[in-house]
Amino acid sequence: MKLILTKELGRLARWLRILGYDSSFYRQDNSSTLVIVALREQRVIVTRNSRLSRFAGPRVVKIDSDFVEIQIRQVLRTLKLKPDPKNMFTRCVLCNATLKRIGKEEIKDKVPEYVFKTQKDFLQCDQCHRVYWQGTHWGNVRKYLNKLGL
Ligand SMILES: [Zn+2]
Repeated sequence: MKLILTKELGRLARWLRILGYDSSFYRQDNSSTLVIVALREQRVIVTRNSRLSRFAGPRVVKIDSDFVEIQIRQVLRTLKLKPDPKNMFTRCVLCNATLKRIGKEEIKDKVPEYVFKTQKDFLQCDQCHRVYWQGTHWGNVRKYLNKLGL
């Protein structure tokens, strides 16, 4: 299932990407263009804007809470999604593109020296070229997801 989130839900979009869901981000205010994009790309609209639920066509999840933990739960519950650990950490948190495994030597200049020395596996975003590794950052994410019961 693919999603498109409106601009007030940036944090939620990042979390859904961490969980492995294709979650694009809509930065503009034009609701009719959003509906067209959602229909064309077959995405469910996730928004805090209650006016959007009135559009016929794409499915809309209207988010009720200000808290990202509750927002994550609402999306998963409403769309009956169950995050698969195999899909977690496979997308770029910033741009939603999929991550590819990359050889250690290729990223030598792109990561801090201690990271290069201590980490074995690296992933890189196809689009923005950001490099990811399973260091402390992913450890904290894992703990947070456990707290959410995911
Ligand atoms: Zn990226």
